[in-house]
Amino acid sequence: MEVAGAERVAASALIGVLALQGDFAAHRQVLETLGAAVREVRTPDDLDGLDGLVLPGGESTTMTLGIEREGLAEPLRAVHVAGTPILGTCAGLIMADREHLGLMDMVARRNAFGRQVHSFEADLELGLDGGPVRAAFIRAPWIAEHGPGVEILAAVDGHAIAAREGRVTVLSFHPEITGEHRLHARFLREVLDVQAARR
Ligand code: GLN
Repeated sequence: MEVAGAERVAASALIGVLALQGDFAAHRQVLETLGAAVREVRTPDDLDGLDGLVLPGGESTTMTLGIEREGLAEPLRAVHVAGTPILGTCAGLIMADREHLGLMDMVARRNAFGRQVHSFEADLELGLDGGPVRAAFIRAPWIAEHGPGVEILAAVDGHAIAAREGRVTVLSFHPEITGEHRLHARFLREVLDVQAARR
């Protein structure tokens, strides 16, 4: 598949994608296109030995129930505490907030753009080579409040929709469904940097 900005960057990285519910298969496809090995994560054992972790979009209520059922909350937090890079998209952003897994010092507002405007696309300037990112928002959250350590990367109508704190990056939108691979490529480069620093 030929996609703007895509490059094979991650031959040695093993990325876990939380696969209880949601669009984990789309993330898997992008990551594999970029050369990473992917493991679908359904139980705590699946988290062993990961170099990076993706929390996909989907339905945060259902995802929360799955995490409780499988006893995944503490093991997921441990991945974060170990300094493993994490990327969350849409419901994955919600899962990262203070009221869910607490991976980032922020609070997400679910379905924040209103019920009438369930879905829309926008071009976002995220400082990537190749120009703005075509971003698909699907019943998307925004970041309603955040602590001082959180860097806001982009906003729509004044509302924060992309952010970073330490090695956690969250996006309200779905780069995995618009053929946009640059944000995954950037994530994989961070994974490789962390890997190299750990050796
Ligand atoms: N609206 C969903 C929720 O609140 C998130 C939507 C998505 O991940 N596309 O969980």
